[in-house]
Amino acid sequence: MTTLQQIELTCPVCETHFRSQAVVSTNSFGGKRTDFHERAAGTQPLPYLVHMCERCGYTGAERDFTEEADVSPMLREQVWTELAPQVAASSALQGALPGAAPSKPGVLGSEKYEAAAKVAEWQGMEPRHVADLLLRAAWCCVDEGDIEAERFFRRKAAWAFERALDGFDGVAPEERAVLTYLVGELWRRVGDGDKARQWFDQVPQEVADVTTQQWVIDAARQQRDCPREWFG
Ligand SMILES: [Zn+2]
Repeated sequence: MTTLQQIELTCPVCETHFRSQAVVSTNSFGGKRTDFHERAAGTQPLPYLVHMCERCGYTGAERDFTEEADVSPMLREQVWTELAPQVAASSALQGALPGAAPSKPGVLGSEKYEAAAKVAEWQGMEPRHVADLLLRAAWCCVDEGDIEAERFFRRKAAWAFERALDGFDGVAPEERAVLTYLVGELWRRVGDGDKARQWFDQVPQEVADVTTQQWVIDAARQQRDCPREWFG
């Protein structure tokens, strides 16, 4: 189960102070899905690991709201141009719904990760990091029950992981096989069997150490030939 607590944050873009819910502790249960998605009993922790400024839409992990945050004038402008209008639109929508709380927009986890991925991209973060955020957006969509959005983010995550694998330094050698497998699994879950097969077939060549990574070769073969939803 997941325990949350309220934290106070100050937005490094617009200086707004706001409250957000953060994860104190969580534990996974029931195994891991074959795209590495782990779930907790009860409340899922993922949506509470990122925070969105309710005024300008700047989004990130808790440390992105500290002095360590990398906020350039350019980033500030991009946040105001692209994220702020979305926040305004979604609060207006919430306010318009009968019975909706007037000032507390309930932002979905997937929306927060989508915004966090944009911020990370604007900050020039590595594709690998952006890809992780997009994958988390897809995982949130699973819990939100939005299959269309889930596919959209799986596709975007797959492309971002592909970009990371393309870059020579983007991925550590011992991670290449796992990420190659993951790209295959993302395409499989999107329903693109041909692309999935191409990536699964590449996994053995990417393995850096057969003694510790035989499981990746086995997982790729399994998901190619006889897919399962969960790791055994
Ligand atoms: Zn802000």
